[in-house]
Amino acid sequence: VSDLLLRLCERGWRLTAQRRVIAETLTGDHLHLTADEVLAAARDRLPEVGRATVYATLRELVELGELTEMTTDRGAVRYDPNVAAPHHHLVCAGCGEVLDVPSELPTLAAEHRHGFEIDAVEVTFRGRCPSCREHAPA
Ligand SMILES: [Zn+2]
Ligand SMILES: [Zn+2]
Repeated sequence: VSDLLLRLCERGWRLTAQRRVIAETLTGDHLHLTADEVLAAARDRLPEVGRATVYATLRELVELGELTEMTTDRGAVRYDPNVAAPHHHLVCAGCGEVLDVPSELPTLAAEHRHGFEIDAVEVTFRGRCPSCREHAPA
């Protein structure tokens, strides 16, 4: 379980009611929410949560390394609290579901790096989830 709230408490992150609700929204497995989805879910718990607070908090958590940003084909940046172990993503082309999957990180041989210093590696496995396969037209 990616327990973002617990990690933040351990590092002494300043918790206000709004920041706590935002962190709770991002605590769990296989979470890849857009900023707007975080805002909607946080407002379900605490209606006064402000858009600017959500955006500022997400930015701060990315800077702290407690969230990573990822994108899928659907465009918007998604926030991923599973930062404890390297993982890759399994993305459904039908419904857009995104799951975290453990897998070895690929490496890039020096002769293929073109002089780059590599900061990040992202691997996406694409396909169709069981429910989309079941409902796909024959
Ligand atoms: Zn699907
Ligand atoms: Zn993920």
